Amino acid sequence: MSPARCGTFFIPLPYLRFMPDNYAIADQFSLLSKLMDIHQENSFKSKSYAAAAFNIEKLPVQLAEVAREELAGLKGIGNSTASKIIEILDTGKLTALEELIAKTPQGILEMMQIKGLGPKKISTIWKEMGIETIGELLYACNENRLLLYKGFGEKTQKNVADAIGFYLRHQGHFLYAEVEEYAQHLIQLIEKSLSSYRWTYTGDFKRQMPTLEKLQLLTDCPAELVKNQMTENGFLQDPPTESTNIYKGAEQIQIEIISTEKELFTATEFKLNASDAFFERWAKDFPDSFKDAASDSEIFKKAGINEIPVYLREDADAIDRVKTLALHEIVQVKDIKGIIHTHSDWSDGLQSVQEMATNCIQQGFEYLVISDHSKSAFYANGLSEERIKAQHQYIDELNKTFAPFKIFKSIECDILNDGSLDYSDTILGTFDLVIASVHSNLKMNEEKAMQRIIKAIEHPATRILGHPTGRLLLSRAGYPINHEKVIDACVANKVVIEINAHPRRLDLDWKWIHLAQEKGAMLSINPDAHNTEGYKDIRYGVLASQKGGLLKSNNLSSYSLTELEEFLINYK
Ligand SMILES: [Zn+2]
Ligand SMILES: [Zn+2]
Repeated sequence: MSPARCGTFFIPLPYLRFMPDNYAIADQFSLLSKLMDIHQENSFKSKSYAAAAFNIEKLPVQLAEVAREELAGLKGIGNSTASKIIEILDTGKLTALEELIAKTPQGILEMMQIKGLGPKKISTIWKEMGIETIGELLYACNENRLLLYKGFGEKTQKNVADAIGFYLRHQGHFLYAEVEEYAQHLIQLIEKSLSSYRWTYTGDFKRQMPTLEKLQLLTDCPAELVKNQMTENGFLQDPPTESTNIYKGAEQIQIEIISTEKELFTATEFKLNASDAFFERWAKDFPDSFKDAASDSEIFKKAGINEIPVYLREDADAIDRVKTLALHEIVQVKDIKGIIHTHSDWSDGLQSVQEMATNCIQQGFEYLVISDHSKSAFYANGLSEERIKAQHQYIDELNKTFAPFKIFKSIECDILNDGSLDYSDTILGTFDLVIASVHSNLKMNEEKAMQRIIKAIEHPATRILGHPTGRLLLSRAGYPINHEKVIDACVANKVVIEINAHPRRLDLDWKWIHLAQEKGAMLSINPDAHNTEGYKDIRYGVLASQKGGLLKSNNLSSYSLTELEEFLINYK
């Protein structure tokens, strides 16, 4: 079996957006403002574009749906911004931005993605240090050259070097959630135009990996025909030598198209969908199962084992695991009965508790757990003791009108530097449940991180451990923890482990779910939503959890309202 590779195509990310939504438009203004600062242009104007970006993100309506003549009258949008919005809506472009991009070296654009480097610092690096690429900058850090300039101390320099290292390791990687919609759209277009052939995604995307380097498509369409069609129809671009588009930060996603013969389609698909480890073991155990099978399920029938969903085809152990794992019990999006872990406008959320709850009810959820930030999270308007009291009264009132739907009183309580929680036991006792999370002083070694987290897990008030590692996929590694010990402590103290469903977090990582379940841990897929849109992230939490084989009976957010109420009384 040797599939012909007909080349790797590249597509700039901005094409992923079919009709610019407010976020896409705000991105352009934000980028414009930053580039103006880097070029040291009119700072009054740049500030006004930054403000426009901020205001656009907060608008309750989509700009594309507003009558053109009414745009300038919207809150925080003046005439000049309105005309630029119209340009974006009509042409998909912003000339002022394109001109600035054209005047900016590629390496400087890339630097904008390095954490800790704002426009001011980049301007110094470029105009004063004369550095134009990330590689040069890293080298300059090694040589302590940054220390000679205003605004760069030893600490900043080290942070910049670390961030570049991280960036270089993750270049060209994407979140699953960033590409999913585009991937679905792309295959529809291709299927329509080359409809007499079979098309399917294979590989990491099919295995629901939280981050992706490429989209891989398998077809029985001849390689030559694929090549002609893709570029002729404008579905895909041939690899440009360098990126020219930076809405999403000069990144591009690779599209790999693999052509195979009709007779080999199933076998090729099976091989491409398996991780190397899984396939190696499979080929050894069941060498005759896949070569001329007519369908995926026939392969498993021939091998005489339960059909393993593609998302589980990761490690070789999966083949043994499915012998005892209740595959039909693996959590599905429809199994999520309530929303756990949300923020409202009492802290850093965008909407009122009432709006968050109303939307839950409309979507058929049975309950909502409101967990705003605690008092130490001053940057997120964390709740003082007095405000907690007021919020609880407010929730009591809402619950009267919303019953049988229920809003639970919760808090996302900061785990302080010494591992203690952010309120007295008396205050903690007033919540229905407490989620404990680390938000500050993330730079810790494992010893320190473990001390801090274990102490919080052992606190009698803690019911859920929020985003256990604090990682941000593709941009921040998170603090190091001993996963096994954290899982053991959570089991021993009856603390639920969160699977944070935000597509950039997704921790606890799926790789640890098998072990957590074996040890008897309870987990919970929580959206950590800051507005009602955020509820959609549950889908990504579920997709990642499926990779760990999470059963719905071990997922707290799959519990019905009655089950959750009983759980809160009995599980501690
Ligand atoms: Zn948090
Ligand atoms: Zn949160």
